[in-house]
Amino acid sequence: MSNHNKNNLLICDACAAQTAQLKFMTRSYGRGIDLLIIEDVPVIVCQHCGESYMTAETMHEIAYKIHYKSLAIPKLVAVAAFA
Ligand SMILES: [Zn+2]
Repeated sequence: MSNHNKNNLLICDACAAQTAQLKFMTRSYGRGIDLLIIEDVPVIVCQHCGESYMTAETMHEIAYKIHYKSLAIPKLVAVAAFA
């Protein structure tokens, strides 16, 4: 990683200005019973053009979490007692 300077600003992928900052944000994915909230997602936010994006590595990690969340957490299925 070579794109750090003393102000910790990153080169923006969208506008190429060195005005982007890494922020940790809470993001939600899906809706209803498939809703998954992930805290402290590293998001790069550019103060120049307003773009916010995640690295491919971060998106891969999120896709992985969504996939395994769907396996690990049982769906909320209505169950009725027969007797
Ligand atoms: Zn930008």
